Amino acid sequence: MTLDQEQEDTMRRNEQNATVGFVGLGTMGREMALNLLKAGFAVRAYDVRREAIDDLVTQGATGAESAAGAARDADIVISMLPDTPQVEEIVYGEGGLLASPPRGRLLVDMSTISPVAVRRMHADLKTAGVAFLDAPVSGGPVGAKNASLSIMVGGDQDAFLRADPYFRAMGTTITHVGEAGAGQTVKLCNQLICGINLQAICEALALGRASGVDLEQLRNVLLGGSAASWMLDKLGPAMIAGDASAGFRIDLMLKDLRLVQEQALSLSVPLPGTALVTSQYVEARAHGEGTNGNQALFRVYDRMTNQAAT
Ligand code: NAD
Repeated sequence: MTLDQEQEDTMRRNEQNATVGFVGLGTMGREMALNLLKAGFAVRAYDVRREAIDDLVTQGATGAESAAGAARDADIVISMLPDTPQVEEIVYGEGGLLASPPRGRLLVDMSTISPVAVRRMHADLKTAGVAFLDAPVSGGPVGAKNASLSIMVGGDQDAFLRADPYFRAMGTTITHVGEAGAGQTVKLCNQLICGINLQAICEALALGRASGVDLEQLRNVLLGGSAASWMLDKLGPAMIAGDASAGFRIDLMLKDLRLVQEQALSLSVPLPGTALVTSQYVEARAHGEGTNGNQALFRVYDRMTNQAAT
């Protein structure tokens, strides 16, 4: 079903007075909650870190003491948490959203988590009369800040239409990709490509460096041709500069690659490229890079080519 522009505008105007319970105010969630505030929604914010709530309150949100507190009188609850156990905790845990859903009876999880867990939560919440969407994102902290995320949504069509005005406050490419869990599957495909692409960039930079080629020039040339990619564009400069600190953490990518492998194994789909790059992420974490950005994958190649400072 497609909405015409007038229907969409009406829907958006109606929702402007709505209240969003937002759970998980980290690198991504903070920016997404701020964009909901900017779009005119009221936000009730919760995180296990008190300082993250206080920060959002100074920006115009109301603070909450728990996920259920964020859901109180809310039309929708949106979560942006690290991994599957944290999402299960706010749904099934004591005082969780299964027992205390928002008045709008709509939950949207935008974290990257297990599609199997998503289908289970979707079924359990549906039995309790609550709609659940999996809506993971791509675009990183910059996309979250600029409200230009790509949002891939799994779940029921009517829930998708109800959530759409909120998605539009946070992203630009918003696609309903199928039933519960389908959003996570598409996101895992995205992560698989990102990981293998990053590995290819590491190999090109390692070869270029050993051959005495200027790496900035190499990157610029590659960006103008068929080897161009988002990873080369956005992470290339930090890789070349040896700046591993900021960005999407190695730990989170490793979590995503684990989810890719679990799904592939359960469906008997061989993914040899993913298996190889996953072991390099494991190596990076073993060398203390877990909290560094994904560009730190190049440090695996530093070590293999004896270029490492550590
Ligand atoms: P983050 O670790 O920066 O933020 C997670 C937040 O959740 C933290 O503030 C933490 O205190 C809070 N939290 C943890 N457990 C909680 C609980 N039980 N109740 C309430 N709050 C809790 O992570 P992030 O980078 O914002 O990523 C969030 C999700 O988005 C992850 O699933 C990640 O894979 C995905 N993602 C991240 C990026 C990125 O570039 N950072 C991009 C796309 C998708």
